Amino acid sequence: MDTAWDWAIRVLVSAPLGLVFGSFLTVAIHRLPRGESLISPRSRCPSCGIQIRSRDNVPVVSWIVLRGRCRACGARISPVYPLTELAVAGLFVAAALRFGDVWVAGMMAPFLGVMPAFALIDLRHRIIPNRLVYPSLVLFAAYLVVARLAGGGVDLARAGLGFLAFGGGLLLIALISPRGMGMGDVKLAGLIGFVLGSLGLRFVGVAAGSAILLGGVGGILALVAGAGRKQAIPFGPFLAAGALIAALFGAELASAYLRLVG
Ligand SMILES: [Zn+2]
Repeated sequence: MDTAWDWAIRVLVSAPLGLVFGSFLTVAIHRLPRGESLISPRSRCPSCGIQIRSRDNVPVVSWIVLRGRCRACGARISPVYPLTELAVAGLFVAAALRFGDVWVAGMMAPFLGVMPAFALIDLRHRIIPNRLVYPSLVLFAAYLVVARLAGGGVDLARAGLGFLAFGGGLLLIALISPRGMGMGDVKLAGLIGFVLGSLGLRFVGVAAGSAILLGGVGGILALVAGAGRKQAIPFGPFLAAGALIAALFGAELASAYLRLVG
């Protein structure tokens, strides 16, 4: 197939899927930390409580048409909603263009897409919800088995190794210094190690290195800005950022690093 056509089709398929997945995640980001159901009830305006109709719930488009206000009461609707949807759609397109193997692209799109959800929930509530980590692990494990059987370029054994290496590494740190790292971080690292490990362990290495580097810089900046040592900054956003960097630039970063030390 002509490359231009291949690219066009990948963008046309991944962008709308990303918008829909992003729309689902905005609901998850709001409801999961509060222990609410993801399925029912339908979304309501947080100001007047009216149920949001389907045509006012189209990702990004409705927010623009309504100029960021509730149709019923006129209360402002946060731009974080459409921006999250746009970011997730962008990550879907990035995955579709970055990974030639359709099975790998189909796994990496939701993997990249769910990272902002982990980061936002941890930033706001200081938790990595089990109700997001466990289903993700189960779904990605099932997907990996199907992708492997269908001939996709994924490696089940390395996925297991990545899970143990990244999750186990952070578990050690959490046991040694329980104040800095929570069990939520350990589980999220396990998920990241699992999915990235299926592509190759160097991706896990880049994700871990990036997360630690970014976390260190973030910690220093927080100290300089005068944040008290007790209010530890959450590590989840750095894990998520490291996963994005590793997934999108991991191959180049790993070989550049190996050239540097070798
Ligand atoms: Zn309203």
